[in-house]
Amino acid sequence: MEIKNIYCIGRNYKNHALELGNEVPDKPLVFSKPTSALAVADGSVLSFPHHRGDIHHELEIVLYIGNDVKDGFTVEDIVTQMTLGIDLTLRDVQSALKKKGHPWLVAKGFRNAAIVTDFWDFPGVEQIKDVEFTLERDREAVQQGNIQSVIFDFQTLLTYIHQEIGLTKGDLIYTGTPEGVGPIMDGEVYTLKWNNEIKGSFTVSKR
Ligand code: ZN
Repeated sequence: MEIKNIYCIGRNYKNHALELGNEVPDKPLVFSKPTSALAVADGSVLSFPHHRGDIHHELEIVLYIGNDVKDGFTVEDIVTQMTLGIDLTLRDVQSALKKKGHPWLVAKGFRNAAIVTDFWDFPGVEQIKDVEFTLERDREAVQQGNIQSVIFDFQTLLTYIHQEIGLTKGDLIYTGTPEGVGPIMDGEVYTLKWNNEIKGSFTVSKR
């Protein structure tokens, strides 16, 4: 499948915004990652920057825009597939950039910073609202979420991105992370689960 742009939403779960000491936003906070940051959690070892401070995991639902986008669309009109992903963040680098008011790109756009598992057909917002998604570190749950606790729902996010930037077929949207973000360490194994079903995993290499 062709991926055109990668958009990410920051601070879309209240408890995550608060755990980092951020204000809860009054409109969606959008940033992007380059497609060169994409990696698949297919059980392999993934390499990450070292000596650049903490790298935090952010487990997120990822939506794929598989249809043409026309004004007045609904989520179900344009989202054809979904997956789980991890928006990896060089947290110390990001904090330094934030302090200076500089863009976050180097903290969010490094190689393997946009992890996805295999995609599956998007069943519709109603169908996934009770589903828990989970990230495990060495088989222990570190993040768990459910779209009922988002600040901005999928329709609001997609409409906002379309108005401000322009959504196109082929775009990927990381929809924000629930609380429980934390640093990844060399040798750890991360497993992404949807409704308790394993969707992907990877081992961290920070050497
Ligand atoms: Zn994120």
